[in-house]
Amino acid sequence: MPHKPIIGLEIHAELKTRTKMFCDSLNDPDEKHPNINVCPICMGHPGTLPVINQEAVKKVIMAGLALNCKIAEDTFFERKNYFYPDLPKGYQISQYQKPLCYEGWLEIESRILNLESRKKKIRITRIHLEEDAGRLYHDPKNEASLVDYNRAGVPLMELVTEPDFETGQEVRDFASELQLIWRYLGVSDADMEKGQMRVEVNISLSPSTGSGQMPTAFGTKVEIKNINSIKFASDAVDYEIKRQTELLEAGEKVKQETRGWDEFKKQTFSQRSKEESHDYRYFPEPDLPPIRIANGRASPAAGGPPTLFSVEEIKSELLELPQQRRERFKKQYNLPEYDIEIFVINKSLGDYYEHVASELLSFDKLDHLKKPEVGRQDKLFKLAANYLITEFKRMCDEVSAEPDDTKVTPDVFADLVVRIFHGEVSSSGAQLVIKEMFFTGKKPGEIIKEKNLEQVSNVEELNLAVAKVIADNQKAVEDFKAGKEVSLKFLIGMVMKETKGKANPQVVEGLLKEVLK
Ligand code: ADP
Ligand code: MG
Repeated sequence: MPHKPIIGLEIHAELKTRTKMFCDSLNDPDEKHPNINVCPICMGHPGTLPVINQEAVKKVIMAGLALNCKIAEDTFFERKNYFYPDLPKGYQISQYQKPLCYEGWLEIESRILNLESRKKKIRITRIHLEEDAGRLYHDPKNEASLVDYNRAGVPLMELVTEPDFETGQEVRDFASELQLIWRYLGVSDADMEKGQMRVEVNISLSPSTGSGQMPTAFGTKVEIKNINSIKFASDAVDYEIKRQTELLEAGEKVKQETRGWDEFKKQTFSQRSKEESHDYRYFPEPDLPPIRIANGRASPAAGGPPTLFSVEEIKSELLELPQQRRERFKKQYNLPEYDIEIFVINKSLGDYYEHVASELLSFDKLDHLKKPEVGRQDKLFKLAANYLITEFKRMCDEVSAEPDDTKVTPDVFADLVVRIFHGEVSSSGAQLVIKEMFFTGKKPGEIIKEKNLEQVSNVEELNLAVAKVIADNQKAVEDFKAGKEVSLKFLIGMVMKETKGKANPQVVEGLLKEVLK
């Protein structure tokens, strides 16, 4: 009997806030020196009192709104009690009964390699707010474990999805889009290698009902943890589907356990078999007040805790999200999907592109009166995109520079694009110009003159070269007249050579055809 994979994700992300969740210690993920950003509150000393970091609450609400969640009107923190050396208080302040955000969704679109893209809504069960634990370092040489509490008490959000995924690709599409959304919102840097975003996969196989409906019988669930890239999460899913299928087909059982991902062997491996479910003895945190959020509907009840947050207010502060940017770029610049995706994933390059495009519009306004032409604006926009996502992006990447921090300002880039559009410089010449602009900050006009890169489109000038090439290459001329098309390419090449690569090939082709007609 075929089996249907059922997969759900639990994703943690460290919030980007100035201070920790319940105290004034700094939240600095780049602090290299251990146990610097600590204080009696995050170290759990008796008699200290936590205070809610409002910036963190607001950021989780922002994340919830961007993911189509409902936002709780009243919620509170709870203590999750357990012992581990990275948890100085002996309990984690978390949310259990009432998450800040619930019942949301995110639509994913599998674009890669799929000619027809497939859209699917993944339901989000909840997003709650909690605090992170410290970091343990095992030192095998000294047989010791060391602990760094800089991370203890850092605001952490946990997002749980419904078991709506069926493939590694879907997991990858979801996690990448989520990461992008969090970065756009500025709620988290979500760097998986730095542990700022952690993806845990729950996966089981069920006997398929064959009708596309949710199966009624669930298989045993395996959890995969400690995965440090999105690609590995999707690889682990595909591997696990295969492993569990083979077990079931051999008549064996899948063990309920936690597995890890070995990125070298490209395999999951057993870490620990699931103990009895923990009893965390959750109870409401007595040292923190409840949270009241105005949802824009009912006015807050009289009495009770004061309203601290307003959903309407937070909504009005939300910036453009990746999907909105995709749609806007399509409308505004009419670019192909591939180009748009590069500008969406590389947000700063996309921002730079928009500045270039707006400069192009002002160039175009001056120019347009002289030589009106249909589709001209689209052509300029596409040309700018071409050179930005290839040459310019490559150079920025090479020196790890943000586009805005380079010597090339958007108006100068637009100036070059207009020159390319007018055939003043060839595409290979333009690449040289970009390189030179990048390193010297000179203007394209200056570089083109200096390096002698002007493309010759002047007909009289080119006619001389064409006449010489025709005189010198009678055989090719005969061949072309006899119908051999490649000979034309050869003759164009000879004219290019004659002009030291500066002839405009389109103009040359036109002239040759005219003469040899
Ligand atoms: P648990 O109580 O074991 O932690 P939860 O109901 O909290 O389980 O779900 C945790 C995660 O497991 C969620 O992402 C959920 O979508 C996923 N999940 C639930 N049931 C299944 C299943 N049968 N197979 C795979 N994943 C599942
Ligand atoms: Mg759970």
